[in-house]
Amino acid sequence: MSAGIELLTTQDYKAKLDQCIHCGMCLQVCPTYAVFGTEMDSPRGRIALMRAASEGRLDAEKLSNSFATHITRCLACRACETACPSNVQYGALVEPARVVVEKNRAPGVAERFLRWLGLRQLMPHVNRLKILAVLMWLYQLVGLQYLVRKLDFLPKTLKAMEAILPSITPRYRDYRKPMPALGARRGRVAFFTGCIQEAFLAPANEATVWVLQRNGYDVIAPPGQICCGAAQVHVGDEEMACELARRNIDAFMAMEVDAIVTNAGGCGLALKDYPHLLANDPVYAERARQFATRVRDVNEFLVDHLHVPPRGKIRARVTYIDSCHLRHGQKVVAQPRTLLKRIPGLELVELQRPDRCCGSAGVYNVALPDTADVILDDKMADVAATGANLIVTSNTGCYIQMIAGARKAGLSAKVKHVVEVLDMSYRAER
Ligand code: SF4
Ligand code: SF4
Repeated sequence: MSAGIELLTTQDYKAKLDQCIHCGMCLQVCPTYAVFGTEMDSPRGRIALMRAASEGRLDAEKLSNSFATHITRCLACRACETACPSNVQYGALVEPARVVVEKNRAPGVAERFLRWLGLRQLMPHVNRLKILAVLMWLYQLVGLQYLVRKLDFLPKTLKAMEAILPSITPRYRDYRKPMPALGARRGRVAFFTGCIQEAFLAPANEATVWVLQRNGYDVIAPPGQICCGAAQVHVGDEEMACELARRNIDAFMAMEVDAIVTNAGGCGLALKDYPHLLANDPVYAERARQFATRVRDVNEFLVDHLHVPPRGKIRARVTYIDSCHLRHGQKVVAQPRTLLKRIPGLELVELQRPDRCCGSAGVYNVALPDTADVILDDKMADVAATGANLIVTSNTGCYIQMIAGARKAGLSAKVKHVVEVLDMSYRAER
């Protein structure tokens, strides 16, 4: 019997599979169906594969070949979930399927080393990530990056990782210092700083704290917080993801706050999903539920708590890139747009396909760079057609992917987080 297959044979899982009525309404929104054009790379095809696995109709060989190939190609963007008229919970179906794929494969030495390094030795240790970011900043500063790109000698995975390296500003806030409300005090929030977000996109975190302070909130960043575990879930490392979830629950539940605010769509979804991740943990299941009710994406929080309207004019043509985890996972769609529309001078232009993934999808752009590139090219063509000179997003992966995409497509548009644009407006007013 194949390892982990019991995850796909529970009554609950089978009931979720049975919700699919095979209508095919999800096919046109699926980015991998657009790339490969095959049923097995569509949501309906993948659900058929999951059903076959769940009913014991796939032998070990098929599980490690066709099942693994088509499940791995899925971005887990959940666009199909939004499009589905039958409320199929595709995310809850594909996650266990990924764990099964993971349990039945034997990655090579290089992949195992990179995973161990990235997911266990770097992401849960933000200070190590910051050292890496400073080294990467030096690499960019002395012109090594230019040479490496020109000579083009890196192996495929490293090349994919290098290609998405953003321009780094290694200036980090000391979260141990107080971050009090500015002006009238309206409450207290805890800020989830993230790992890659904090090390590589520090200006967006800085802007988040400042905008929250500006709107009357004391901000605290609990020192015991750690990586959210989204990437670990994405590659099927549930054990590590649960460990990280418990650490975050302990860190955040120790303090009384109005909300736990995150500025990364992917992290936010992972944090909100802790009750599901820890459902079978007798100690943490209830605490995970309480924790999740407090989590707010920064757009969700600010749309209801923007007490100080941004008044400084920003003369820019802006297009907003939805994070799939924010749009399809958390259903946060209108809030970032509402916030952007409140900034004077800013013109918001919608993409033709705002629901389409950019190809970042956790570690997809590193794990499957060729497919991710096709998806990214498609996205950048949509961005270019808007004529935007500012690309705005609300998630770490999309932010990094958009910088790489703009460079690849030869666009001069800058990339910013929603809170950075709000921050720009407050500063312009002053
Ligand atoms: S999650 Fe995204 S990539 Fe996967 S089947 Fe659904 S739409 Fe396609
Ligand atoms: S839209 Fe929903 S019900 Fe229809 S095929 Fe896709 S997953 Fe199944």
